[in-house]
Amino acid sequence: MTPVRADVLVIGCGIAGAATALRLAQDRERQVVVITRASEPEESNTRYAQGGIVTLGEEDSPDLLVDDILAAGAGLSLPSTARIIAEQGPALVHEMLIEYCGVSFDRASDGQLSFGQEAAHTCPRILHVGDSTGKAIIQAMVAALRAQPNVQIVPAATAVDLITFPHHANDPLSVYEPITCYGAYVYEQERRSVRRYLAGKTILATGGLGRIYRHTTNPEGARGDGLAMAYRAGARVINAEYVQFHPTTLAVPGGQGFLISEAVRGEGGRLLTPSGEAFMARYDPEWGDLASRDVVSRAIHQEMVENGYAHVLLDIHSAMSADAIRERFPTIHARCLSLGLDITRQSIPVVPAAHYFCGGVWTDEWARASVQNLYTVGEVACNGVHGANRLASTSLVDGLVWGVRAAQDIVRCGVVDQVAPDEVPRWEEEGLEEDADPALIWRDIRTIQHTMWHYVGLVRSTKRLARAMRDLYHLKEDIEVFYRTTRVNDALIGLRHSVQAALIIAAAAQHNRSSRGCHYRDDTKGTAVI
Ligand SMILES: Cc1cc2nc3c(=O)[nH]c(=O)nc-3n(C[C@H](O)[C@H](O)[C@H](O)COP(=O)(O)OP(=O)(O)OC[C@H]3O[C@@H](n4cnc5c(N)ncnc54)[C@H](O)[C@@H]3O)c2cc1C
Repeated sequence: MTPVRADVLVIGCGIAGAATALRLAQDRERQVVVITRASEPEESNTRYAQGGIVTLGEEDSPDLLVDDILAAGAGLSLPSTARIIAEQGPALVHEMLIEYCGVSFDRASDGQLSFGQEAAHTCPRILHVGDSTGKAIIQAMVAALRAQPNVQIVPAATAVDLITFPHHANDPLSVYEPITCYGAYVYEQERRSVRRYLAGKTILATGGLGRIYRHTTNPEGARGDGLAMAYRAGARVINAEYVQFHPTTLAVPGGQGFLISEAVRGEGGRLLTPSGEAFMARYDPEWGDLASRDVVSRAIHQEMVENGYAHVLLDIHSAMSADAIRERFPTIHARCLSLGLDITRQSIPVVPAAHYFCGGVWTDEWARASVQNLYTVGEVACNGVHGANRLASTSLVDGLVWGVRAAQDIVRCGVVDQVAPDEVPRWEEEGLEEDADPALIWRDIRTIQHTMWHYVGLVRSTKRLARAMRDLYHLKEDIEVFYRTTRVNDALIGLRHSVQAALIIAAAAQHNRSSRGCHYRDDTKGTAVI
């Protein structure tokens, strides 16, 4: 099959990939192809972001924002990249999102932008569109992308692996050259076949990996695809042990994993035991209910394990009027109501769940990975901003800033050289007749999710991690055989990526014996199952 050719291939269409493509599209000579495994380009983690996007509030400054990012990052956030976010993020939110894409962030009655307050922020500085900010952002960005003549969006296209030399080179002497990326092998879901997408520069913008955990806020596609592909290509991966758990996800039948935004606590919501006792002051006397995510998640976990609670409660109805709740949290209110819970009168049962990947593919301050011609942006990347724990509402802005910076770097580099098609082998599928059995895939995914939840979750220990490594390693061997002997499809590709991503995290967690931020080791307290 003839390859698709582009100057730049963007893998992923969340805020990070969309920002890169939009910025690149300004140069009409450049051809940009954006692929997404989802059938709708808007479908991504970005689509589900509720609380908002960080900018600078009224009595705010870049210095204050940097201080908050560094404090949440527990000593592991890189000050130079935190400063880039704090200084460039607010301007880009205005230029690209408000002015160029026309995102209508909520405004006060005087027409001024309305700033929300969230946990561990020293002042109100979060722009939002009700409680479905991500949806408003990605719809506007995709609409803007569709209007670009030199951008092609290809939905239902799943990247299987990056095309890198020397791994995929026909010329054996390329082994002496630095590892270099020339695009990706991509499974086109409707044609049910894999095609070469060749490009001079490749942007990995595949988002996070919450779906490798049993309980998560993330939608279906967050399976660690980009992390696994970059790792296999030889890219440097850092901080992989730092998986952030969101403290408050809905714990009522039918609503598991639905996120109850931090903004609920920002507006005065309080965490209570099932018998109504407020407990956060015992864990963090200074910040109480507004403590950072890792502190609140572990506090809830502790309450649940020590007292045998199935969940704790989040009370917002005591802090806000019913009308104010309906206006500020329309999505949360409607979703809970559809499940029989009226949050204007009742407290919300909540549990923690895997939420955000703070580690990822190492990038420099222009989003360049350690593999030549490869950039990583958004949640799949680790540029150091989020350290050991991400500050609320900073990941959308991270994707925006580094998405644009990747594009700026590519523009600065000038003409982009493409590889000749005959230098890259076609995808070989001859002799593979059998379609993947969905029952096997489902069972393997479940095994990964349970292993990660129980052994590589909120509280980790040497024994649990050793067990996780053993189980995941064996599973990976089986999945690799499965993958090599079966016709691929999106689910099988995702399974292979997921087990690789799980192993990367478990290995990093095993290697790092000290607790910091959202990586917490509890080796002295036995092995009680979470
Ligand atoms: C419920 C929820 C609420 C959140 N709330 C907030 C918030 O209020 N504020 C905030 O700042 N952050 C929030 N976050 C985090 C934030 O939404 C994400 O970190 C951010 O959107 C990630 O953007 P991204 O562009 O890196 O990835 P995504 O938006 O996840 O996009 C990834 C893209 O890659 C594609 N993809 C994945 N694998 C492949 C593959 N193999 N081949 C082709 N395409 C692929 C996907 O289809 C998708 O298009 C929230 C997250 C969740 C889940």
